[in-house]
Amino acid sequence: MTQLTLYNSLTRRKEPFTPQDPKRVTMYNCGPTVYSYAHIGNARAAVVADVLFRVLRHIYGDEHVIYARNITDVDDKIIASAKELGVPISEITQKYARIYNEDLAALGCLAPTHQPKATEHIGNMIAMIETLIEDGFAYASDGHVFFDVSKYDDYGKLSGNTLEQLRGGDRVGEGETARKKNPADFVLWKPEAGGVGWDAPFGPEGSNMKGRPGWHIECSSMAKATLCDDDYGNTIDIHCGGVDLKFPHHENEKAQSCCANGTEKFANFWVHNEFLNMGSEKMSKSLGNVTLVHDLLKKWDGEVIRLALLKAHYRSELNWSEDLLRESKKNLDDWYTILGKIGGLKSDSINFIGNEEIESLKFDKHLLDDLSINDGLSQFSATVNAANVAFQKYIKSKTDDASTTLHLFRHWITTNANLLGLLQKDPEEWFRGNTSAGDEAKITALIDERKTVKAAALAAKAAGDKAEMGKQFSRSDEIRDEIAAMGIVLEDHPDGTTTWRKG
Ligand code: AMP
Ligand code: ZN
Repeated sequence: MTQLTLYNSLTRRKEPFTPQDPKRVTMYNCGPTVYSYAHIGNARAAVVADVLFRVLRHIYGDEHVIYARNITDVDDKIIASAKELGVPISEITQKYARIYNEDLAALGCLAPTHQPKATEHIGNMIAMIETLIEDGFAYASDGHVFFDVSKYDDYGKLSGNTLEQLRGGDRVGEGETARKKNPADFVLWKPEAGGVGWDAPFGPEGSNMKGRPGWHIECSSMAKATLCDDDYGNTIDIHCGGVDLKFPHHENEKAQSCCANGTEKFANFWVHNEFLNMGSEKMSKSLGNVTLVHDLLKKWDGEVIRLALLKAHYRSELNWSEDLLRESKKNLDDWYTILGKIGGLKSDSINFIGNEEIESLKFDKHLLDDLSINDGLSQFSATVNAANVAFQKYIKSKTDDASTTLHLFRHWITTNANLLGLLQKDPEEWFRGNTSAGDEAKITALIDERKTVKAAALAAKAAGDKAEMGKQFSRSDEIRDEIAAMGIVLEDHPDGTTTWRKG
């Protein structure tokens, strides 16, 4: 059985990953707060989770992995933005949730199995908070409900904080601190704002305390609702997100979930990706140094951006730059070029077992070793280069053996690229980029005409009709110039076909 090893932030070491049930592997990833566009740092977290999702599907089978990534659609920033624009919050959240999904799809991220929205789970959140109050883990105070961190012995275990440290580093405003028993207590329920609130029985003797959930309880409730049930239990296999979420968000999710559900563990594995930096600083909305995925996609293909995001190990920081994008574009152009050459060959029934050398190039071993994609990419490039060498040999020899080798290479390249979510396009489509439908039709017509003109020129030559030959050749030159003026390069293939791409 293929064994995945992952670095677990909870134990601070790499461990073999074993799901509780190989037929139902569960992972949760904290999704976006939808009040504006996602930046490329947010995309890094989503792409890392997507690769993990793909690797788990590779090991356990597509239908046995359940991935939940939520949408936070109620939050102070959303309320502030709705107020500023004078629109209901749903108008903002629906728009940005849609854009988020479109942007991630362009980056090759598979749709998660579940995408719960916080506003659709308010009832679950209220029920969880009620349990926490009943069992003495939470208390109501001045229109709020707080989690009492002193009641959970393991508080701080995930992030490495102690309650002492947290007391010392308390940055909570005076009014807020006055409402709490301990400065590190965090909010589960807070008063309604901007007309956004739900009835909840947290007031004295179960009276109404209209309000809205804190951010942390949202994820605890949505993870439970989408991934857990009585048979499965309340511990999920993997929880992921960026390192900035480790504290307080994940520490608090863990505390609430374990106490409300009566479990020792909320997630068996905690997987955190490092930051994407702009210069020497973390990219973040609050620092104002963001590059939006939406804007990048206007200039770069989603696969270029995705490859750039995969160039560093997920637990290393990644310095973002144009150079990184240019280098990734060059890699993909090279890979698509060779794939286009091999793909153009006629494929008869090929037995994919047989070439031990290619079979032994185990690509997934890199991914199985704590998602070491960066190491895998070197092997990937080297194999594509080897395929290119094999192609040159094939052109010379045209033997069946050489053809089989090429098909094996193609199989290797496409299967492993699927694991990375790369090379998902047809090579021709890749090189055509965003050529308009009108230009495509024009180019195809010119290529067809060029073929006819060439044939006519050859026929004229055979018949010794020099005048006709000259006429056909000069039309052929005109066609070549017209095509070149459109920035298009033609490629003639050994089987007589011609393809085109952007130059
Ligand atoms: P947010 O919308 O800020 O809650 O972030 C959504 C996801 O992106 C979370 O998993 C964050 O940890 C992650 N994230 C935010 N900024 C960065 C960054 N600069 N580099 C990597 N991940 C980030
Ligand atoms: Zn979360």
